[in-house]
Amino acid sequence: MLNLDIPEVGLVVSVLRESARLAQRIQQDMTMMKLTKSDLSPVTVADFAIQALVACRLRSVFPDAALVAEESAAPLREPENAAMLDMITHYVATAIPGADHEQVCAWIDVGTGDGGTCFWTLDPIDGTKGYRRGDQYAVALALLEKGEVMLGGLACPGLTADCLPISGAGGVLAVAKRGAGAWRTPLDNPDAPFLPMRVSSCETPSEARLLRSFESGHTNVSRIEAIAAHLGIPENNMVRMDSQAKYAALAAGQGDLLFRLLSPDRPDYKECIWDHAAGAIVLEEAGGRVTDLNGKAFDFTHGRKLIANTGLFASNALLHEVALNAVMTVTA
Ligand code: AMP
Ligand code: MG
Repeated sequence: MLNLDIPEVGLVVSVLRESARLAQRIQQDMTMMKLTKSDLSPVTVADFAIQALVACRLRSVFPDAALVAEESAAPLREPENAAMLDMITHYVATAIPGADHEQVCAWIDVGTGDGGTCFWTLDPIDGTKGYRRGDQYAVALALLEKGEVMLGGLACPGLTADCLPISGAGGVLAVAKRGAGAWRTPLDNPDAPFLPMRVSSCETPSEARLLRSFESGHTNVSRIEAIAAHLGIPENNMVRMDSQAKYAALAAGQGDLLFRLLSPDRPDYKECIWDHAAGAIVLEEAGGRVTDLNGKAFDFTHGRKLIANTGLFASNALLHEVALNAVMTVTA
């Protein structure tokens, strides 16, 4: 069972709910406003505002906590970005009354470190392009100790409570603690219970549902198609989805395989830790398996990036060996 009285768990649950609400408010308001300046895009404002909010809440519970997060306040301190800082501060102040420019920048910069033995990692808006399109995105927060993810949560406002990607869904909050399972609850109902998450029982490769990035530029579509053909997976079993919402869907049995191959345009791409830490523990605690494309476990001991790994391959565990073998043998 998930013990919400553990301060770290309670923080993940409350701050992810609060962050998802803020992301949704910014998306709605700014879509209505139809801003002309491109640097005031909702995603930019939401990224910074949520990073400030999470850092503030984290430090209020754990004053010495280290945070590794995607954004830095350096651009916001430039005079030409004053309007953007104003907008971000306005939204942060809706959650933290009285927040000012300096505080907002200082909270954002809590996240600029490299980690250490024990640290948190945050992606304030994972799936930027999905957020802009009104599709899938996630707020992802995890706690790491000695290179191991110990706790993680994903707020996915575009999934249903049982993790199906359906627009207009109320959203899901998925939380996992090492050794204590993975749990989901509706994002829009704080009184609803947490239910256990469990991966699918699919053992037949040709029946597998394959999840991949919505954005073709984040992966290698022709190679995924070749791997799918090799495994006998029909085209309509492939689901394109942005962000770590894919991990949540897989953890809830709404998919069986998840690939992140390297884009031919970025053959040296190294994954960022905040793009995987929370998703990986949710999936592992639901019974799934996470490795890189060479079958190697993620190595979270190298700072902000997974420099010792290449891409991602995740599964319901039952299909891991057979599909990994396809990943390693099918080249085009
Ligand atoms: P997804 O929605 O699965 O495509 O993942 C979104 C994440 O992909 C973003 O948070 C980015 O950090 C990351 N990303 C951006 N460019 C690339 C790229 N060329 N290859 C792989 N991932 C990328
Ligand atoms: Mg991301």
